[in-house]
Amino acid sequence: MLKNYTPAEYRTVTEYELVFDDGHNNGFGFPCDSTGKLLEGLNPAAYENRLRCMMHPEQFVRFNEVIRHDRRVKDFAHGTCSCGNEVELIDHYLGACQCGKCGKWYNLFGQELLPPDQWGGDSLDEDY
Ligand SMILES: [Zn+2]
Repeated sequence: MLKNYTPAEYRTVTEYELVFDDGHNNGFGFPCDSTGKLLEGLNPAAYENRLRCMMHPEQFVRFNEVIRHDRRVKDFAHGTCSCGNEVELIDHYLGACQCGKCGKWYNLFGQELLPPDQWGGDSLDEDY
């Protein structure tokens, strides 16, 4: 069993966009904060495009408007492997996943499994 098992959960991420468009998302949208200040580290062309938009308000239905987007993201269940590695419980192989450090297998509830090659069942190389 993984230590510190944490079940999957959804959370809401809020992002803002400074919009210059025709009211139907045809135009420009720049990532910004809730006050409309552009985020740092954008492509330099984004700042230039925004300046150009500011000089031509007549071209836009929505001009310099902050639009809020809420989206749901899923944090996968996760926990700490006995080797100390943090493991995200994502279905990589038949409902199981493997620790990237020590190679142990877990189901999506964090219970340790035998490696898939020891799961048994029908095998193509069995003799009849
Ligand atoms: Zn491990």
